[in-house]
Amino acid sequence: MAPADRVEAILAKIRARGGRATDARRATIGVLLNTGQTHLSAEDIVSQVKIQQPEVAESTIYRNLTALEELGVVEHVHLGHGPSTYHLTEDGHQHLLCERCGKVIEVPDETFTPLAAQLAETYGFQIHPRHFAMMGLCRSCQRRRRSAARIPAVADH
Ligand SMILES: [Zn+2]
Ligand SMILES: [Zn+2]
Ligand SMILES: [Zn+2]
Repeated sequence: MAPADRVEAILAKIRARGGRATDARRATIGVLLNTGQTHLSAEDIVSQVKIQQPEVAESTIYRNLTALEELGVVEHVHLGHGPSTYHLTEDGHQHLLCERCGKVIEVPDETFTPLAAQLAETYGFQIHPRHFAMMGLCRSCQRRRRSAARIPAVADH
């Protein structure tokens, strides 16, 4: 689907759920579509929407983000200690975050299905893994750690 059509489809979803499809909301969705898989904070989104629509108040853009989340078209994810970042719900995926270098690896939702089933069965707990990134070490940081362990006490710089 062309990006403009995707924006229209999302606006149609908003209207169907009783939300208003304003120009500022259209611009917010456009920003999230254009930036695709990068992870924008609310602040990043506000500044990009402001470039397109300087007349819209920042507070309105923040409020829109919350409203779009309540309407189920936008969701946020916490990537480590930084500010939460935003996605279109339809781009949903899960995140693995390297604690050492900050690299984010996106993995399909199904990756967590066996764990979700096991936790539901054993503890009756329903996990929402899309809300937080899974923390750990990426492949190259593990390699670096292993080779560092083999070298006896070199000066740290
Ligand atoms: Zn992502
Ligand atoms: Zn890493
Ligand atoms: Zn949250």
